[in-house]
Amino acid sequence: MASIVRLPRPLADIWDWQRNAACRDLDSAMFFHPEGERGISRQRREDRAKEICAGCPVRLNCLDHSLRVEEPYGIWGGVAEGEREASRRHR
Ligand code: SF4
Repeated sequence: MASIVRLPRPLADIWDWQRNAACRDLDSAMFFHPEGERGISRQRREDRAKEICAGCPVRLNCLDHSLRVEEPYGIWGGVAEGEREASRRHR
């Protein structure tokens, strides 16, 4: 679970970028792995999600948010949870 203390305040202008998200009307299951998903099925789902993120007009806002609040799950800004974790450990 993301740390609530790192979440931005509930002001519309802080969260407004989400209105332009390419994933806004898509099934969130594309971006978050189900219990026990591994291997090629996980890789395919992540690749599809990352393709959507690559064309998203708010990709950098999304990635910045996920890094600031240390989102532990899902694809955010085209970056998977394992990749974010590796980046955190590297810093
Ligand atoms: S970058 Fe990806 S996860 Fe983030 S808002 Fe855009 S489509 Fe959604």
